[in-house]
Amino acid sequence: MRTEHLRNTAVLFALTLVTAAAAPAPVERKPLLTRVDKSFAAETTHVREYVRTLADPRWEGRGIGTAGIDSAAVWIAARMQAAGLEPAGDAGTWFQKFDVTTGVEVQEPCFLEARGQRFASREQIVPLGFSTNGTLTGRVVFAGYGITAPGLAYDDYAGIDVRDAFVLVLTNEPGELDSTSRFDGTINTPYAEVRTKAINAREHGALGMLVVNGPRHHFGEPLKLPAPDGVGYMSSGLLCAAIGESVADALLAPAGLTLATAQAAIEADQQPHSLALPESTTVALALKRTRASTSNVVGRLAGRDTLRALVMGAHYDHLGMGGSSSLSSERAPHVGADDNASGTAAMLTAAERFTARTRKGWHPEHTLLFCAFSGEEIGLVGSSHFTDDPPVELKTIETMLNMDMVGRLRKNQVQVMGVGTATGFHEFVKAVNQAVPMAQFDLKTSEDGYGPSDHSSFYKRDIPVLMLFTGAHADYHKPSDTYDKINATGLARISRFAGALMESLDARPRATFTKAKADASPGRIAGGGGYGSYLGTIPDYMQTEGGVLLSGVRAGSPAEKGGLVGGDAIIRFDGIRVDNIYDYTFALRSRKPGQDVRVTVKRGGKEVDLVVTLGRRP
Ligand SMILES: [Zn+2]
Ligand SMILES: [Zn+2]
Repeated sequence: MRTEHLRNTAVLFALTLVTAAAAPAPVERKPLLTRVDKSFAAETTHVREYVRTLADPRWEGRGIGTAGIDSAAVWIAARMQAAGLEPAGDAGTWFQKFDVTTGVEVQEPCFLEARGQRFASREQIVPLGFSTNGTLTGRVVFAGYGITAPGLAYDDYAGIDVRDAFVLVLTNEPGELDSTSRFDGTINTPYAEVRTKAINAREHGALGMLVVNGPRHHFGEPLKLPAPDGVGYMSSGLLCAAIGESVADALLAPAGLTLATAQAAIEADQQPHSLALPESTTVALALKRTRASTSNVVGRLAGRDTLRALVMGAHYDHLGMGGSSSLSSERAPHVGADDNASGTAAMLTAAERFTARTRKGWHPEHTLLFCAFSGEEIGLVGSSHFTDDPPVELKTIETMLNMDMVGRLRKNQVQVMGVGTATGFHEFVKAVNQAVPMAQFDLKTSEDGYGPSDHSSFYKRDIPVLMLFTGAHADYHKPSDTYDKINATGLARISRFAGALMESLDARPRATFTKAKADASPGRIAGGGGYGSYLGTIPDYMQTEGGVLLSGVRAGSPAEKGGLVGGDAIIRFDGIRVDNIYDYTFALRSRKPGQDVRVTVKRGGKEVDLVVTLGRRP
């Protein structure tokens, strides 16, 4: 598609942009973009060292709540200071501080009593991280694997009443390691997720769920304490605990069953064998949700026009020792060299180039803000905090440029997301790419401003965004995302490209925001999506309980057609209670594309019922 003619037009366009907009300071702009800079080799060394420093295992995978991430923040601030930026955080500091939930701690009481026996050791009972706190007594129903899978004609709850009862359920799903299983047979389907089972139990009216490892494949596996770090601890609304096999045997004994025989019955014919047990139990559980503070690190280069600003951002946090977002079972520092020491290093290097030029008398039109975000991995929390409480008036921010995973340049391919978020961005990005000698990338562009990184937080506030990304790889979200695998030359080139984009934006009139089309997949980093039905809502990640607050809906989506708008909080979905994002995911998964569903939202203090026809995930 890229003919010579198009190429030349693009270069001309770039130069026109650069020179035309340079009217107030005509000498300076063009040389930076076109000069082949002798310092490029030095910059490459620089950027490599930055990634090495940030991805040092001693910084503990830059997990929220660790000393490692705090050290990283201090180091980034020192780099910004050395470069000559001014602090733009809270009260004249470099840091924009905020609190996040980081995990849970098991407290007392924590026990199960049945038939006069009390089970209270950590081998016998451990609360699940999303349990509520409390002490309740109720009858017990054995509910097989706790799965309702209408598409697979399997329902452990068919024909049994679990209202006000504890359900006793097995982990995983029927037919594990059986290639003839109606479930996958080789890997667990989403029905096997414990959180999914808890919501399913709650939707059937249970007051608690007791989970036990099935002896068939998991005999003797120790109970796991909820991780002290990570996310996903929003309450499920019922008491939930993992119990040992001997405890389950004690509950099943009055019915003449053992855990092994109860599981064997299901496995023998791959049908549910649920039943109410004769005796009641008392369960007491207590969890303390732990919080930690973390900080964005923000530096500023003042512009001539105080009413105009541009933001360059990259998150510096990562997964710590692992946790629920890790794709590895290993508990080790997830050093995140590509995700996202690379973007942070590219941003710092770009900032250094800008400040070096100000020492030669150049000044940007716009105030340039450089922000290393924290809390990205736990739900874009740092960038949401930034847009909620911005260091400059939000309406003065004309464009946000994000970099996330830019350290693995291969085949010269760079993805640029967000080209549909402002008029002319597509041509603009191409033109800059052609005009900068160190760029010349093979660009893959996508329109959408929503995507799995911090630019989303700006786009949802109607700010044009661009996001650079060099593609997914097998080390994504694993401890093996290490420094030695970084393409440092490629990263230094991307830093140049990002700097040139900022410089060209600085020289242009304000970009005009446009609502972008949702893209099929280029913005998806790994996994995700592709399961269940599609509504096209954009949840606000900052809000964690009391319904799912929407920050917007996608243009042309089923949600928009059904009348949902930003600001709505979804509280029920086709009869399913929605307290948080997990409930909402469960609800979406449990309904099929093409179905009409009633969605109840809280809007301005009132409940509003809407009917939405579910779509297929694009
Ligand atoms: Zn990332
Ligand atoms: Zn990540």
